[in-house]
Amino acid sequence: MVIHEYAGIVTELEDHDCPHCGKLMEPWLTPPETGWGVILVCSNNGCPFYLDSETDIENKRDDSHLGCRFALDPGNKYKPVNVLAVCPH
Ligand SMILES: [Zn+2]
Repeated sequence: MVIHEYAGIVTELEDHDCPHCGKLMEPWLTPPETGWGVILVCSNNGCPFYLDSETDIENKRDDSHLGCRFALDPGNKYKPVNVLAVCPH
């Protein structure tokens, strides 16, 4: 189990390994406008899902280096969601 605490709010999350790279996913507090709250995110910069996504995003600017990280939404039965993130490379 993973425990995430922010501003006095404790969220308990199940342990989930990323199905793409096998790494333990980490809790991440999403921006309020997403309405997701705390989700689990694969933060592995070498994750195949993340690296492959960089070329898949439509209408992205060539220099934006945006990629999708694999994430699960605990508020929706751990359904997979995509989280946009800036690629480090
Ligand atoms: Zn991964």
